Amino acid sequence: MSAELDFGLSEEQRLLRDEIRRFAEERIRPGVAERDRERRFPSRIVVEMGEMGLLGMLVADQYGGAGFDPLSYVIAVEELARVCPSTAVTMSVSNSVCCWPIAHFGSEDLKQRVLPELASGRMIGGFGLTESGSGSDAGSLTTRAELDGDNWVLNGEKAWITNAGEAGVYVVMAKTDPEAGKRGITALVVPADAPGLSVGTPEAKMGLKASRTAPLLFENCRVRADNVLGEVGAGFKIALRTLDHSRLGIAAQAVGIHQRALELAVEYARARVQFGVPIASHQAIQFKIATMATELEAARALTRVAAAGEHRSRGALLASEAKLFASESANRACYESLQIHGGNGFSDEYEISRLYRDVRVTTIYEGTSEMQRWVIARHLTRA
Ligand SMILES: Cc1cc2nc3c(=O)[nH]c(=O)nc-3n(C[C@H](O)[C@H](O)[C@H](O)COP(=O)(O)OP(=O)(O)OC[C@H]3O[C@@H](n4cnc5c(N)ncnc54)[C@H](O)[C@@H]3O)c2cc1C
Repeated sequence: MSAELDFGLSEEQRLLRDEIRRFAEERIRPGVAERDRERRFPSRIVVEMGEMGLLGMLVADQYGGAGFDPLSYVIAVEELARVCPSTAVTMSVSNSVCCWPIAHFGSEDLKQRVLPELASGRMIGGFGLTESGSGSDAGSLTTRAELDGDNWVLNGEKAWITNAGEAGVYVVMAKTDPEAGKRGITALVVPADAPGLSVGTPEAKMGLKASRTAPLLFENCRVRADNVLGEVGAGFKIALRTLDHSRLGIAAQAVGIHQRALELAVEYARARVQFGVPIASHQAIQFKIATMATELEAARALTRVAAAGEHRSRGALLASEAKLFASESANRACYESLQIHGGNGFSDEYEISRLYRDVRVTTIYEGTSEMQRWVIARHLTRA
């Protein structure tokens, strides 16, 4: 079942959506429950996504990328998330918070060195901003980078890093001038094999179990001095710009989960008979399905509008609105879909229970719903 409106999609974007939908059903769906149960990273699928150009979607072709537009990108993330949210976040993090800042703020030499590897999927990327003491208040991070001859020397610890241990390279925010507060933060590109970098114990997460999340530990970690993105001291601004963009990917991930939660709810409500009729004939169930479907179309439309207008002046505001609405409504949809499944929804045998766990984090990472509301209100109320 798909009630999806094609409004505004080009022929090329429709073809891309169909191709990724097929790929997700044929290559990702088999084994998705096992990978979740076994917390197994989808290594084979990552290689195939690289071959399809899905790991360098926003990278220009001169650096080996597929050169897609942001709307095509959110369509791709949605289709992957509909089948496996873990695979979707693995892909979106590499595209959005690693390739994107390197492509926008990296020197020509850095782009030549790193982007072709990422875009081909020969390696994936990660992004290190969060620390145990600094989450929403990202400017209070304490990981330190000091210049020593031709190298930066990093000390500190990053927490909750997606793709940690699987990635070949990380964009890392570190304090290079502790006296300068947020203006003393610099964005550095750190290869996974840099001496002094290690990966901590992976998090035992309640959802997204087939994606990898772990701390990054820097102990006198040495990185080339020219691995800086933008200017020294511009790292906080670069992090915020990156997150403005990457929220589109999380909004799309939520839309994909929402789509699947609705499909499962409709399928179950038609098949399950109680009081002599399918439960789909009970008005209480119909109302849940109607709300899920309406909020899905609204979330998808807002996400696509935000993606299409990414470079315009209201782009960041729309991205926050899309991330807020899509993640909150997808959580409601998974709650209601599970409710429609009754006791079976509480069983690991049913797909909705995995989606219910996976969707929860979408209101938390890449800026909580509270932070999105703060960003939106600040845009509207600042003098
Ligand atoms: C699965 C997963 C993957 C992640 N991947 C990455 C990654 O790849 N890279 C990375 O850098 N980080 C990553 N994160 C970290 C994530 O971005 C943070 O968890 C998130 O930004 C929230 O920070 P926090 O957990 O420290 O919560 P806190 O900032 O401690 O917030 C706790 C609560 O307080 C609220 N709160 C905080 N400040 C305010 C305020 N001023 N007003 C109102 N409410 C407030 C928050 O909204 C939240 O509800 C990941 C997290 C998870 C769970």
